[in-house]
Amino acid sequence: MATQAVITDLSSALFLPPREMTVSQWADENRVLTGTASAERGQWHTRTYQREPMDAMSPSNPAKMVVLMSAAQMLKTECLLNFLGFIADVDPGPTLVVEPRIEDAKALSKDRVAPMFRASPVLRGKLATVKSRDSDNTTLHKAFTNGAGHVTFTGAISPSGLAMRPIRYVLLDEIDRYPASAGTEGDPVSLAIQRTSEFEHNKKIVLCSTPTVRGASRIEKAWNESDQGEFFVPCPVCGEFQVPDIGDGVESGLCWPPDQPELAQYRCCGCKGLIQDHQKAWMVERGEFRAQNPASSIPGFRVTQMISVKRPWGTLATEFVAARKSPETLKAFLNTVLAKFWEERHEEATDAHTLWNRCEPYAAEVPNGVCLLTAGVDVQADRLEMEIVGWGMDEESWSIAYHVIPGDILRNEVWTDLNEILGSTFAHENGQQMRIKVTCIDSGYKDSTVLRFTRDKYNRRVFATKGRSGEGTIWPHKPSKKKQMPFFMIGVNAAKDAVYDRLSVKDEGPCCCHFPQGRDLEYFEQLTAEKKFIKYHFGFAKHEWRLGADKRNAALDCRVYAYAGLQSLLTSGLSLNKWCENFEAMQQRQARAQRPAVTDDATAPVDGRRHAQPQENPFVAGRDGTGLTRRPNWLER
Ligand SMILES: [Zn+2]
Repeated sequence: MATQAVITDLSSALFLPPREMTVSQWADENRVLTGTASAERGQWHTRTYQREPMDAMSPSNPAKMVVLMSAAQMLKTECLLNFLGFIADVDPGPTLVVEPRIEDAKALSKDRVAPMFRASPVLRGKLATVKSRDSDNTTLHKAFTNGAGHVTFTGAISPSGLAMRPIRYVLLDEIDRYPASAGTEGDPVSLAIQRTSEFEHNKKIVLCSTPTVRGASRIEKAWNESDQGEFFVPCPVCGEFQVPDIGDGVESGLCWPPDQPELAQYRCCGCKGLIQDHQKAWMVERGEFRAQNPASSIPGFRVTQMISVKRPWGTLATEFVAARKSPETLKAFLNTVLAKFWEERHEEATDAHTLWNRCEPYAAEVPNGVCLLTAGVDVQADRLEMEIVGWGMDEESWSIAYHVIPGDILRNEVWTDLNEILGSTFAHENGQQMRIKVTCIDSGYKDSTVLRFTRDKYNRRVFATKGRSGEGTIWPHKPSKKKQMPFFMIGVNAAKDAVYDRLSVKDEGPCCCHFPQGRDLEYFEQLTAEKKFIKYHFGFAKHEWRLGADKRNAALDCRVYAYAGLQSLLTSGLSLNKWCENFEAMQQRQARAQRPAVTDDATAPVDGRRHAQPQENPFVAGRDGTGLTRRPNWLER
């Protein structure tokens, strides 16, 4: 009798229409957090900014596609997990989850999905392992026991996972990190979406990513086509709804007393009142999505860490100040914290005349600020060209010298001359003599000649290098070999990105490039000879550096190799700023030793003036700028 009852129960469950509930209702009622992968444990509670994105995935919502453009750790993974739980429990169907790499897909299945199905009572037993001798297969393929359907986890690189049975639910995670093509099959996003054609009436496609570079971003295209829901929160003082942003520091946004970002507060764009950390939860609780492109029928949602109650204003401001030191870290901050696109601005700033006009007199061969020297050498049939670059705190750089050594490179003379320069010393403004710490020589042309020169100089860090096109890091983890002789493959695209980013920095300080008076215009024309182009591969944009017609670029190559030399040190564990601190401490010790002892109070300001009294409340400063410095065009580099 008992068996009979069970069978009746099961069959009636199979034929019942799906329960009328939204994904957020389901999660609030049924999802239990384990505390292992996520920081929280206990019953799931949907936050305001998660509710609408999740409910757009519910069967009751007519949307066929949902776009989530989010900062890291805010929205994507938890929404996808809740949706998977909902699918398994309420409305099963064939499901495909795509991560950038197969390793990411395995990790999601093992570390996030499996624990959720174990910890939530309503999900227990609802995900069955598909029997296979291959353990990868059992992680990546699961069957729903509650009716029809299965879930497959795959990486965007493997076409096999994408070209398979019809799919009703497609969950595409971190799409900006997908390759341009899945093997030779074409765009992985289009491939996955094509699988849903048999479920035209009830399919759901979820596209998620943190944004990357404008013009080369998949989520940008999806976001532009969506209704672009921005999350607005009310000011606790005046009630004005706004999307919290870094802002300019005076009119609205994060502001802080000089040099104390950890004390940051948020200034309302309406009443200009200052909002404290403890008021953030109140604001977020009352927040709502407002479509900026209401004509679209595709729901899109953007969420930034500015509204995370776990991220105090002071932490965000401190991270921002640190991130501003280099274009790479600022890009990461924009993408993963603010969920904003990075704008490539190489063209406008790297103009030869502008750079030429910036040439400045140096007080010595090596001016103060420089703590380390590297050199880059370009090899051509009839000459060697070489630049010596000085590096300081936060990769501020000074071009120290540029040499052209004419002569047939198959003869010994040019190499003898080069060896002489590499062994010489350079006079620092502090009175010391400096040597070149690393030299990278291009071996793309006549590699055996170059390798013959470098083979007994490896310990002096005189390296043969070769440019490698395509994506990848600037300095490899280990050398390549030719006839037992080591050389290094350099990611020239990334190196040129870094060099051009630095050339476009206008203000002295982090990443700024200095040039000595007397350097000719031809040098700067070569330095700026390449432009970034967009190449389309399976319809997907990829950036690539190209040399203009009739242009020479030896100066650029030299700078790229000198920068790669710095990278070789950083890759091997050197901290440039630590090195500079030690260098400057040593310089001060030597200066003290040479100077008569100071008899007066050593801490008194040299000009005799007293230090300004600290302001009582540095935030009251307001628009006259007495305590706050405006950050206009803070993105300008
Ligand atoms: Zn206000």
